[in-house]
Amino acid sequence: MKDENCIFCKLANGEIPTSTLYEDEDFRVILDANPASKGHALIIPKEHYANLYELDDELASKVLVLAKKMITKLTDVLGCDGYNLVQNNGETAGQTVFHFHLHLIPRYKGDAVGIGWKLGKLTEGDKEEILSKI
Ligand code: 5GP
Ligand code: ZN
Repeated sequence: MKDENCIFCKLANGEIPTSTLYEDEDFRVILDANPASKGHALIIPKEHYANLYELDDELASKVLVLAKKMITKLTDVLGCDGYNLVQNNGETAGQTVFHFHLHLIPRYKGDAVGIGWKLGKLTEGDKEEILSKI
């Protein structure tokens, strides 16, 4: 299913031209228009799913296989030193485009890409609560 108001549906299906690194029947991989670092790319399914919660199971399993292929090739091409894979679900988590996508963010020694968080400490209360509910 496509959503006619969704920019990523249009990009993924070639209705809006974009820099395509790879394409198959399920996905298009494009360069991010606002890269965190040189070569920042997005894996976008051609069908519309708002987020990972909604993503079809079969497609979900294909995403990581494709990510592995892409970062292997792109590490060669870009000469980067590592990769972050980032996938935001929900506005609170930083999602701005509500069509599932996986960020492939190349990392270069000494770069200023700000992916991280302040380390907390797992409390007994949180641990017991979560383990008792899962
Ligand atoms: P999110 O914040 O939803 O995880 O990521 C959305 C990403 O899509 C952002 O990194 C943003 O730069 C990228 N983006 C938004 N619109 C366009 C567009 O029209 N073309 C491309 N190539 N990237 C886009
Ligand atoms: Zn869409």
